[in-house]
Amino acid sequence: MKILVTNDDGIFAEGLRVLVKELKNIAQVVVVAPDRERSAIGTAITLHQPLRIQKVSTVVPGVETYSVEGTPADSVILALGKLVESKIDLVISGINHGANLGDDVLISGTVGAALQGYLRGFPAIAISVAWGDNLHLDDAAKLAALLAKKIESNALSANIFLNVNLPALPLAKIRGAKITRLASDSHINTVDEGHDGRQEYYWLVRQRINNNMDKKTDVWAVEQGNISITPLHVNLPRKPSPSIPHSLCSNLLQELRKY
Ligand code: MN
Repeated sequence: MKILVTNDDGIFAEGLRVLVKELKNIAQVVVVAPDRERSAIGTAITLHQPLRIQKVSTVVPGVETYSVEGTPADSVILALGKLVESKIDLVISGINHGANLGDDVLISGTVGAALQGYLRGFPAIAISVAWGDNLHLDDAAKLAALLAKKIESNALSANIFLNVNLPALPLAKIRGAKITRLASDSHINTVDEGHDGRQEYYWLVRQRINNNMDKKTDVWAVEQGNISITPLHVNLPRKPSPSIPHSLCSNLLQELRKY
């Protein structure tokens, strides 16, 4: 099995290193990741400057590793389109330092990178651990390896796009694993304002409001000490919004010409 690993915390993040060390026990691993932290950049890609790549040997010795002067999504596109010539079986993004839950998957660079793999027809997993005194990265890495093996043995469909989050708990204290759906919840929902003596400044800050304690959601599962596995999909092109009547378009062009 051959696995492409990326992340959004940057090529030298501990989560990436621990993940690669674990995965190399069960697969051939190639790492292509941003040269610095690019968290919360979603699936942004770089179109207005060239992308530079550097081969790196120090992340996990013996593992083919490239550092990209670009975003997580750039890294996956470059890897699948140029750097990795033989067939890839799985794309894993992470292990992110901090959970990626609910609406935040839309801004997560970890999920954005996995999405690029999924859109190109590869099974893709984004994996994150909730903040805590100890991130328990080793446990998350083992879970990633376990899921990879399930894909390899066809116990899991090859057509998956999973968002996996672990609570900040030692394995012995984790209560279970839940298949969840995304909560309608974002942690970047508040703007703090201040003055630095010269001018005003603004901070987008985390203030999670737990008004959505639906037990089927990822936020609930992780807050209750469970591993959350959310199957994601990309339905935007196929499901038109039902709230827009088809009649909107019947005279729209005529209306526009008269406007
Ligand atoms: Mn990150």
